[in-house]
Amino acid sequence: MSEKTRLAILGSTGSIGTQALDVVAAHPEEFSVEVLAAGSNVDLLIQQAIRFKPNFVVIHDTSKLAQLKTALEQEEVKVYGGEQALVDVVQMECVDLVLAAIVGYAGLRSTIAAIKAGKQIALANKETLVVAGELVTELARTYGVNLYPVDSEHSAIFQCLAGEFHNPIEKIYLTASGGPFRGKKRSDLEGVTKTQALKHPNWSMGAKITIDSATLMNKGLEVIEAKWLFHLSPEQIDVIVHPQSIIHSLVQFTDGSMKAQMGLPDMKLPIQYAFAYPRRISSDFPRFDFMNYPSLTFEKPDLETFPCLQHAYHVLARGGNAACALNAANEIAVDAFLHDKIHFLQIPEIIANASAKITFIAKPTYEDYVATDAEARRYAQAEIH
Ligand code: NDP
Repeated sequence: MSEKTRLAILGSTGSIGTQALDVVAAHPEEFSVEVLAAGSNVDLLIQQAIRFKPNFVVIHDTSKLAQLKTALEQEEVKVYGGEQALVDVVQMECVDLVLAAIVGYAGLRSTIAAIKAGKQIALANKETLVVAGELVTELARTYGVNLYPVDSEHSAIFQCLAGEFHNPIEKIYLTASGGPFRGKKRSDLEGVTKTQALKHPNWSMGAKITIDSATLMNKGLEVIEAKWLFHLSPEQIDVIVHPQSIIHSLVQFTDGSMKAQMGLPDMKLPIQYAFAYPRRISSDFPRFDFMNYPSLTFEKPDLETFPCLQHAYHVLARGGNAACALNAANEIAVDAFLHDKIHFLQIPEIIANASAKITFIAKPTYEDYVATDAEARRYAQAEIH
């Protein structure tokens, strides 16, 4: 193993990917970039490749491959296109740790390939565990791979568990900001636009996760992610709305003691923690000032107005391929909302209807998940007129 941690950054042009590269730029003595991979933002990918000098660059959208190759002609980098190339490069000997930061189901295959190649994983792509948590955690155990959470809530839980060895968890509390529509009722949400939904109060993130935060589906996906990461039952996972987003999540142990991890909302911290684990390395991120936050407040989530969180608990209780279907229907519904094809309140309806129709499989294989994803997408698409 080289002295530096050698990284593959999948989804390098996204919100998490670009912040991960900020972390690398601040710590060139700790990290090197071996792989950069993106969907279709070829201009940014070219800039990143020239700056970070990776061994491999992959673009999913093969119509941009020629442009990428021409622009990087003078660089010592191998340039590829398409999904299979991504699956191949994550397995390269030169990679120690893979940051899975592609958005959605599209991130599943490359993450599984990286696990099977024994690469450590910094996991931002929560959909991987929502779709196939049982399979993915089983593979991680088999191949001796650690899944380091990047999601701030799960990183918080992970940090609270440091040094606790096998002390049993009574429950965890995932905190939620409540999103841009906190305090609103169903009737207030009838005509909301995507511009309103994309205005998150505390976090600047990609479009899909920002809409998921507005519907509270993001918290639902996180409940499912937490079950698999920390081996919990649904009853052990609670959600509490905390509008200031300072407490990133909490663990309650069997003696009643609670540990919380706090800080200003900044994804670079959990990214850096996942990259440098188990060490904490310095940062110049802005520090928390108590005087700016004289009170931290907490509320119960409003499940009537935001039924997506409830849907997530239902599919978690159902098990099998149910969460995979929920994820697929959600991706279709969010995309339709972002393209002005449906109203905000239709998102949970489409998810519930599509999820109810899928063929239930209690113990799915990888191929079953692929089929379920396609089936649920078809049902969800049929609801969009
Ligand atoms: P963005 O939409 O900002 O970025 C997504 C990235 O994935 C882009 O680089 C995009 O490339 C790339 N991509 C999309 N499809 C493909 C594909 N088929 N093959 C290869 N690359 C692809 O998303 P975020 O960074 O916000 O989120 C990424 C993941 O991290 C999500 O799963 C999200 O839930 C999770 N997460 C994000 C947080 C945040 O603060 N943003 C917080 C916690 C978790 P391009 O743009 O070039 O098309």
